Amino acid sequence: MYRIAYVDGRYLPHARAKVSVEDRGYQFADGVYEVCEVKDGKLVDERRHLARLERSLRELRIAEPMSYAALGVVMRETVRRNRVTDGIVYLQVTRGAAPRDFQFPVAPTRPTVVVTARNSDIARLDKLAEDGVAVVTVPDIRWQRVDIKSVSLLPNVLAKQAAREQGAREAWLVDKNGFVTEGASSNAWIVNREGKLLTRALGTGILPGITRSVLLDLIADQGIKFEERAFTVEEAYAAREAFVTSASQTVMPVVRIDGRPVGNGAPGLVATGLRREYRRYAAIS
Ligand code: PMP
Repeated sequence: MYRIAYVDGRYLPHARAKVSVEDRGYQFADGVYEVCEVKDGKLVDERRHLARLERSLRELRIAEPMSYAALGVVMRETVRRNRVTDGIVYLQVTRGAAPRDFQFPVAPTRPTVVVTARNSDIARLDKLAEDGVAVVTVPDIRWQRVDIKSVSLLPNVLAKQAAREQGAREAWLVDKNGFVTEGASSNAWIVNREGKLLTRALGTGILPGITRSVLLDLIADQGIKFEERAFTVEEAYAAREAFVTSASQTVMPVVRIDGRPVGNGAPGLVATGLRREYRRYAAIS
């Protein structure tokens, strides 16, 4: 399909949508991004995504390229021009283009803004959720500020590729103490032997997932037994259920970890229930 991207104030066909070779996103991965779900042509949890974007920019001292209201308008317009009904909108902000030098540019530099959008194959995602997906564990070799949603994703790229090569959809990253941090592009959850739902607590070790935060509201409302704490790979192998969360797939049941079946090897009741209920808690605007 003919696709349109927003690049620095203009909506362009993808073939003509380009940034400078000296863009610091390209040179140094000096930028941040957001992926927001689109449902019925509307943005899901826009406010929380823009709040996280604001924090990522502040942590890296990248200037705000425009008001958050204006960014919302650009995201919606990109969704509209690409005729996205159910899919994602991608927003990236880098420190901008400047002669290559490690330090921040001294001369005033405009951040580069790129927005793209595309439909997802919803039928395929629903089928995956019905069957459940496989994950493999790999060492977490990322930097120590993965709470910032930066475009520096090389370890995630390698982890996802390793997963694919082993027939899995996602990689779970494992810290040096044997605890799962999160997925390469998702947050990781289990229902343990005692029937308690677990996901790692926030901090600098994981990305504060928006889907994760919405799910926490749902869980509190439903009175599900829950604890925010790290779990080991061994605990995950022994879990009754496992699943991952992210804006592009909401709640996705996990049925195999490193080739071992989770529980009875089928999506669990908790994961399936949370996937079904999720929509009611997401803010759509
Ligand atoms: N962790 C990582 C490393 C991710 O890349 C993502 C998805 N961008 C998530 C967690 C899930 O975050 P969200 O629910 O905001 O999509």
